[in-house]
Amino acid sequence: MDAGDDPTLFFSNSNIAPKAEYDKRLAHAKKLAAIWGVRLIEDEYDHEAWRETVRGYEDGPERGERCRRCFAFSLARANRMAEELGVARFTTTLTLSSHKVSRMVFEAGARHERYEPHNFKKKNGERRSRELCDLYDLYRQDYCGCEFSLRDRERAARARAESVGAE
Ligand code: SF4
Repeated sequence: MDAGDDPTLFFSNSNIAPKAEYDKRLAHAKKLAAIWGVRLIEDEYDHEAWRETVRGYEDGPERGERCRRCFAFSLARANRMAEELGVARFTTTLTLSSHKVSRMVFEAGARHERYEPHNFKKKNGERRSRELCDLYDLYRQDYCGCEFSLRDRERAARARAESVGAE
């Protein structure tokens, strides 16, 4: 983003489950938008359409084909909204997390002319996001978003608990 830009936040997260988690993340995105004084547009929540997109890849690992399809789904929706609004450029914060392969995000974005790649991991982006969450008292999720990432997180927690119990 350049000085003088007038950003709009687009909350497009049909991947998130359960819906209560979606609502919680949306509420905090709205809180940040209010603090920064920027417009936030909420996309329609269509988890069924998202499920259809990743069908057959539910059991795959994070960073695999399911995530590739998930990125493509969300960025296509962002591109549609950018066209509707007449916005010349858009990007995504999907590159922020160290759990995400930025190259996969860039590849999904490259299908859209208006997409501008930004690697938000750079310049300690993830640490900076943690600092901002603390500063503004924002919710910070502990799983990526879909029910499959939640399942994997719970499995990992169980395995950790069992290995501690076995010691
Ligand atoms: S783990 Fe995250 S990026 Fe991958 S499919 Fe689920 S919500 Fe999408």
